[in-house]
Amino acid sequence: MVFLADDTFPYNIFYGNEAFEEQIGQGLNERTLLGLGLDINAYIFKEELILTHAGKDYGFRLELPTDHSSNYYLFYKGKELRMHGLPPKKEVQQFFKSSLDLIAVGQHDYLTYVNHASLPILGYDPAFLQNTSLCSFIHEDDLERIRPIWKSKGGADQLGFFRIRFIDKQGVYKFLDCSVQFTEDRFFILARDVSQKAKHELNLERRKELMKNVGSLGKMVSWEYFEASQEFLWDDSTFDFFEKESQKELERQILEKLKNKNRQEQDVDLEFGSESLKGTAQLISSAGNSAVWVGVVWDEGPRKALESKSLLHERLILNAPEPIIISKGDGQIYLCNSESKKLFGLGKNQNFSHLKDIEPLLTSNQEWRSWIQTAINGENITHFSSELLSQSGQTHAIEIAASRLVEEGENYVFLSFRNVSEKVSLEKTLEENSNFLMNLTEQVPGGLYQLVLDGSGKMNFSFLSKGIAAVLGLKQEELSGFSDISMAISRVHPLDLPQLIMSSVASAKKLEPWQCQFRVKSSSEPSGYRWILGAARPQSLDNGDMVWYGYLTDISQQKEFETKLDEARKTAEKASQIKSDFLSMISHELRTPLNAISGSVYSLLQETPTDQQMGALNTINFAVDNLIIMINDLLDFQKIEAGKLTIEKAPFNLKDLVEQVIKGLSFHAKDSKNNLNLHLFGGLDVQVKGDKTRLSQVLNNLITNALKFTKEGNVDVTAKLKAQSSDKISIYFEVKDTGIGIAPEHQERIFNDFDQVKPTFSAKYGGTGLGLSITRKLLNLMGGAIGLESAEGVGSTFYFELTFDLVKTATTNGTIKEFSHAMDLSSLHLLMAEDNDVNALVLGKIIKKWGYTFERVINGQEAVEAMKTKTFDCVLMDIQMPVMDGFEATKAIKKFSKTPVLALTAAAKLEIMEQIEACGFEGFVAKPIDAAELLKKIREVIHQKNQRA
Ligand code: ADP
Repeated sequence: MVFLADDTFPYNIFYGNEAFEEQIGQGLNERTLLGLGLDINAYIFKEELILTHAGKDYGFRLELPTDHSSNYYLFYKGKELRMHGLPPKKEVQQFFKSSLDLIAVGQHDYLTYVNHASLPILGYDPAFLQNTSLCSFIHEDDLERIRPIWKSKGGADQLGFFRIRFIDKQGVYKFLDCSVQFTEDRFFILARDVSQKAKHELNLERRKELMKNVGSLGKMVSWEYFEASQEFLWDDSTFDFFEKESQKELERQILEKLKNKNRQEQDVDLEFGSESLKGTAQLISSAGNSAVWVGVVWDEGPRKALESKSLLHERLILNAPEPIIISKGDGQIYLCNSESKKLFGLGKNQNFSHLKDIEPLLTSNQEWRSWIQTAINGENITHFSSELLSQSGQTHAIEIAASRLVEEGENYVFLSFRNVSEKVSLEKTLEENSNFLMNLTEQVPGGLYQLVLDGSGKMNFSFLSKGIAAVLGLKQEELSGFSDISMAISRVHPLDLPQLIMSSVASAKKLEPWQCQFRVKSSSEPSGYRWILGAARPQSLDNGDMVWYGYLTDISQQKEFETKLDEARKTAEKASQIKSDFLSMISHELRTPLNAISGSVYSLLQETPTDQQMGALNTINFAVDNLIIMINDLLDFQKIEAGKLTIEKAPFNLKDLVEQVIKGLSFHAKDSKNNLNLHLFGGLDVQVKGDKTRLSQVLNNLITNALKFTKEGNVDVTAKLKAQSSDKISIYFEVKDTGIGIAPEHQERIFNDFDQVKPTFSAKYGGTGLGLSITRKLLNLMGGAIGLESAEGVGSTFYFELTFDLVKTATTNGTIKEFSHAMDLSSLHLLMAEDNDVNALVLGKIIKKWGYTFERVINGQEAVEAMKTKTFDCVLMDIQMPVMDGFEATKAIKKFSKTPVLALTAAAKLEIMEQIEACGFEGFVAKPIDAAELLKKIREVIHQKNQRA
């Protein structure tokens, strides 16, 4: 089929061949292209076209009119198309026309056909766009991208897909997603307006960007919901945020919320089951049921935590235990905590608004102003102190510290206040105390110091009170430079230095208090030195140093006094010594003649005198005895006074001793017409250790007194076992008389030295008044005490108790007695060494009386000689002799002879006791000689010698 049509409207079909007429032409109501339903403009680039007529499609080739040769359209090679159910051409055209998408055809870069969608989408009439260059509508940024597609005509597959921004009639760029297909000389574009979607994508992009930036503030994810596809689109960070399941649950909850939402509402707040999850949604496209929602979901937890943290910080500062005020750089108060309010006396609801409000409350407000300015400027500042008068009227001493903080361009000043009233008052008290102590150290006599010995061995004064200057004779100004110990040492007297150093070293070593007296140089003293007493207590410190706290005091006066006292003591001692020597000498001198008298009387009495002679001899005897007692008393007293009397511990038989004393006094008892009775109780026949001489003396004194002060009465002597243990024995002694008695007021006095009830030395009773005093002292020395019960005219009882050590061996005394009886001692030859002729005469007479023989030598030397040449049974050796005394002689004799030597001495026994023992005497007998005692002693020593032999 072939037909021709005009190239002008209404495009009349002016020719058709038979085939055309038959199949199409006859059926046409209007013989035009429009009548054929052909929009020829749509085919402008096409060589082929499809016609639809009476429900049938026909394909034609088309030749367009050309400027120079034709002015008609030629449709040729027409034939019916069997399309197998495809829509006929008309419907296709209709489809194109009514398509919502843009469809256009073009050549090179301009459009030859645009469908009607251009009006709703771009606001242009399709005709407006025809024959216009595409480039002028496309965003130049996009041109760059599509130019290569056009150049290559879509490449091998002749296709291209891209998104461009196409300016619409309003001048707004629309996003068009395009697909372009190229042919030899045409291109066909199918474009869709995706502005909404692109915008949304851009939004999403931006949102993502935003999310990235805000991510640090908290957890947040964005989503999109496409109602049409019922699909959620979450951003990438979703999985950091939710579990997969909870995401699903969230979607469910979002949908639930959106379902009931009014579509007009733009923003929808979303709340979820979880308290901290919040969200918001926005409807961004609502065409039909293809609504698109976007939204975000965030976790308020971190934000809330942050919020509560900053709240906490604020609360912490508000409730800080120290007063704190924070101001801004301009002085506006930012925060004033409760302690500050308390300090400044503000009510709970009162507040400072500016730092200026504080100013009038401070006493040093001038300084405060400049100080706070310094603080605001952030310069290096120290603490500020002032007195504060709080609004409640209280005055406090305060200390203010400031620090500056620049935060987000804002200047903050942080002020902390401290109430230092207590500290200030404490400091004041401390200062007072320290002043008091300083005063004290300065006022005490002498000087105080602190001396430190450090690890390197250096000794320095770390403190010297002012008084030290006076003690060491320094000037006050010299004291400050006086620190090295060597400076002090150089002032010490060289003789005192060793002792000073030794005592210091000892104190340091033993950590014991140091004390030392030493001399230091002094110009004011005549000797050039003054005496100092130093005392200190050392203390070792944790760091190994040693510290002495001590004082020095001037003791020159005391020393002087001591020296004088010492001299006085020495003088007194010397005087006492002279007295003692004098007494000793006198007693010796007196004893010798007394000895002679006593011995002579004894001799005379042995030679059967007449009654008259007898009376006279007895009187002499009594007087001499009395004199001897007195002399002995005086000597004993003097010895006790001088502390020279010691108590010896030698074995003796208690019973024997007491009996001996009684026996010795029996004559005296008879003489005084008294009954002297001895009462012994308990086992007293024992060997004890003690001073039998002193015990005899005590008993003698008491019994003699009893006999003296009793006339024709009774004197009862009692010795009683009081207690006995395995090694000790206690004995009670009592001397009871029926004499004149002692008035109670005199009972204590009579024990005093030289005290008597009546001064009777030369009268009726005789005596010195020393006996009881000596008795008491002797008993004290033996561990006993004298007691007295007495009534005037009734009698007196003197008593005492003594404890002795028991001697466990069998009583030797008894054995001696047995032997002495068994041995033949009837004829002995004795050597008598005695320089005094009278004494020798008396002693010789006594010896002859016993039936013994003797030989006399007049000094120790001769005695030694005699012993060397002759044999004697015993030597009676006087002590004081010319040439060689008894001690020397005995020592010499003992070197070669075992013959017993007895000392005969007028000297008090104790004085020479040690010497007697040391020289090897076997025993001694006191002068004046008691003949019986001497005989007994001679026999005893000979017997002992024989036993040893
Ligand atoms: P005297 O050497 O005078 O006896 P004493 O010290 O022994 O010194 O005694 C002091 C005095 O105590 C005596 O002079 C006497 O007055 C009194 N006196 C001592 N013993 C007795 C006694 N047994 N009865 C009465 N008076 C006593």
